[in-house]
Amino acid sequence: DELVSRRLLQSKLVGLGYEVVVASNGIEAQAILLSDDGPRLAILDWMMPGADGLAVCRAIREQAPAYVYVIVLTSKDRKEDLVAAFDAQVDDFITKPFELPELRARLRSGERVLKLQATLLEATSLLQHQATHDSLTGLWNRGMAYEHLSQELKRAVRTGEPVSVLLADLDRFKHINDDHGHAGGDRVLQEASARMRSALRDHDGIGRYGGEEFVVILPQTTRDMARVIAERLRVSVQEHHVAFGSDSIAVTISIGLSCSTDVAGSADALIAAADAALYRAKDSGRNRVEG
Ligand code: GH3
Ligand code: MG
Ligand code: MG
Repeated sequence: DELVSRRLLQSKLVGLGYEVVVASNGIEAQAILLSDDGPRLAILDWMMPGADGLAVCRAIREQAPAYVYVIVLTSKDRKEDLVAAFDAQVDDFITKPFELPELRARLRSGERVLKLQATLLEATSLLQHQATHDSLTGLWNRGMAYEHLSQELKRAVRTGEPVSVLLADLDRFKHINDDHGHAGGDRVLQEASARMRSALRDHDGIGRYGGEEFVVILPQTTRDMARVIAERLRVSVQEHHVAFGSDSIAVTISIGLSCSTDVAGSADALIAAADAALYRAKDSGRNRVEG
């Protein structure tokens, strides 16, 4: 909060190559650090009017959208002060007057922590994606689709709105594999997935439920509406032959349908009913919708 030392610190930091955002008190600092895309590393005075440095640090720890590395720069120098600062979850503590090489070393240490954290976040989000998506088609995997359906059913109980489920299965897919090889079969799975995804509304969900079987979750959808959507999916797959090398592969799907207004209760019950309808669609000639 003190102008002269703030200016001095600012010019040193700029000299070290940092992009500096300046705040003249704790309240202002807190607002800047809590903003989206705010600075990731903060040097805070301890004693300031309004909110002191430790109060700012506590607020950031509770509310900041991303981790902020906090260095307290203070004239306090007793052991108890240092302990109190770390109790407020600061990352580092420098006593004034600071020496540039030390400040630089501590900033670098902070940067290492931030870089490590960014790497971890990236890895976590990649793992999260891998754990919930099918790698061949990019659709949700079975677990994620099931989880989503369960959530939608809970919501439907609260709102009283219907949820419909489709199970779609590629017809005679074994023949496609036999005729065009496994790579051709994979291509067909990818193309059919993309077709179905683009024939759905944004709030509909679709996952790969098994080898060549897909589950579609239709929130706020009656059985009649679901039939229309299922028919749209069926036609969009049928109309689009899959190019594979010099081959043009014709693909059709059969679809079984169920709706929460007719099948009481759980995700399992809805899926079982859609599966039974799918079986009927296969039995009565394929490339059709039943249920
Ligand atoms: P139906 O019309 O009765 O559904 O006949 P189908 O041949 O499609 O059904 P079936 O369940 O007998 O065969 C499914 C085949 O899908 C068998 C399996 O080898 C193949 N398959 C499962 N997963 C994959 C995959 O990831 N890639 C490829 N290329 N084939 C797969
Ligand atoms: Mg099949
Ligand atoms: Mg199958």
